[in-house]
Amino acid sequence: MVFCLVVKCGSTSLRDKSIHFYRVPSIYNRKGKLNDTLQRRRNQWISLLKREDLTENKINSGRICSKHFITGQPAKWSDIDNPDWLPTQNMGYNSINQPAVSAQERFERAKRRKIKDPLKKSLSANTAMVSNIRKYFVFYLLNSFNNCTF
Ligand SMILES: [Zn+2]
Repeated sequence: MVFCLVVKCGSTSLRDKSIHFYRVPSIYNRKGKLNDTLQRRRNQWISLLKREDLTENKINSGRICSKHFITGQPAKWSDIDNPDWLPTQNMGYNSINQPAVSAQERFERAKRRKIKDPLKKSLSANTAMVSNIRKYFVFYLLNSFNNCTF
């Protein structure tokens, strides 16, 4: 049985017959030669997993499942500009700089954000403008607090 290395994914070859599993790329090409591009790809795949408990052994015995690629499978190693050169989908966390959160938490948070922030919704086409308006709004709020004399 193989299992998916992605945080909170939990796909296994036993349970999920329709899912394909892919090895973390080797640093050697088919001829057994060290390859810089493959080395870089392997390092990026591992860092995208954001797991501190990974050992060489776990990396080599684990797999990354098709849920983490846009097309359901990794791109060829030479196809560097392809977004599927790396696993990017359903990685168990929001973005590269944030800690792992589940899809459910993410969904709940997005729901709350929508309710709290009708201004953002109406102007979602121009996020820069929204962020400026927010800045001024916060500035305005802070100022009015400062001017308050209780
Ligand atoms: Zn997976």
